[in-house]
Amino acid sequence: MKRKYNFSPGPATMPEPVLKKISEEFFCHPDLDSSIVELSHRSKFFLNIIEEAKAKVLKLAGLGNNYQVLFLQGGASAEFFRVPMNLLQSGKKASYINTGAWTKKAIKEAKIFGEVIIAGTSEDAGFKHIPKDIHIDPASQYVYLCSNNTIFGTQYQSYPSTNIPLVGDFTSDFLCREIDLSNFGIILVGAQKNLGIAGLSTVLIRDDVLAKCREDIPSMCSYPVQVKENSTYNTSPVFAIYFTHAVLNWMEEQGGVKAIEKQNREKVAMVYDALDRHSIYTPYAEKTDRSIMNITFNLPDDEKTAAFLKGAEAYDLMNLKGHRSVGGIRASMYNAFPMEGAQVLAKYLNEFAEKN
Ligand code: PMP
Repeated sequence: MKRKYNFSPGPATMPEPVLKKISEEFFCHPDLDSSIVELSHRSKFFLNIIEEAKAKVLKLAGLGNNYQVLFLQGGASAEFFRVPMNLLQSGKKASYINTGAWTKKAIKEAKIFGEVIIAGTSEDAGFKHIPKDIHIDPASQYVYLCSNNTIFGTQYQSYPSTNIPLVGDFTSDFLCREIDLSNFGIILVGAQKNLGIAGLSTVLIRDDVLAKCREDIPSMCSYPVQVKENSTYNTSPVFAIYFTHAVLNWMEEQGGVKAIEKQNREKVAMVYDALDRHSIYTPYAEKTDRSIMNITFNLPDDEKTAAFLKGAEAYDLMNLKGHRSVGGIRASMYNAFPMEGAQVLAKYLNEFAEKN
């Protein structure tokens, strides 16, 4: 069966060697004599997978053992409320930088628990760039941002400097480039782009921030409880964690984040170059803040957009339709997206422009 080039924003293209390995082990893993989905979350085998996965995440992220790693359920959206539930009480405040859809959702949840200060926003500019004018309230418990906006195709090139712990949503750009993450007190990542399958969220939490978190909240939501229970407070999503462990192994085999970043930059350069060469394409994000994961652009009208999408099918390019709030085209190319797919897209972009 032939796999097409899948530009889906998520659940996204996974590394082929991982898919193959897991499909072989799915029915019966040689070390278990049973399926990987039948594995007990209390088993030695699984606890070893968790330990390895935690160590690999920290090593790949360039962080030390002053961070705890959690594998939780509910997706990244569950962290939108778990973060303020743990760190924001009534009478306290947190600063949020608004870069569109994902931070808006996080802001809505945080307001349930305490005061939200909008430290910066690019809403007036249609979220085409990352806000540069940032005013952090010094009394904030934390400063929240989303590293890469999956919908608008914007990405921070550097993070605000502040003594207050940063909390970052890295769902759509975790481990895509070498960048200093040590100012982040919490890093939250929905798995379905760079880490694995939907439903799992990986949370990295620095010890000084963990010490400030509440335990007098529902156990499933309390970071300290989940740390104490080593992400096995209830039946862990064993298959999702196993999958992430395999993706982390694959990343190491590629040469780690440095090698992956090089590939990512090569992939997007081909596509952005083609977009910049032809006036029929209008890139959505401002050049300085362009994402290396999600490329967004518009065509002159709906008819041309429809023709572009239709024509893409002949090249085995799928899921290129932009998000409804931006329209046009979005090409998501996460770590596992093949170089060849980017080459085919660049070729198609040039051919479509020349014919139209
Ligand atoms: N944050 C970002 C940046 C995202 O792109 C997404 C999903 N596309 C989410 C959060 C929400 O993730 P989930 O669906 O796992 O809750």
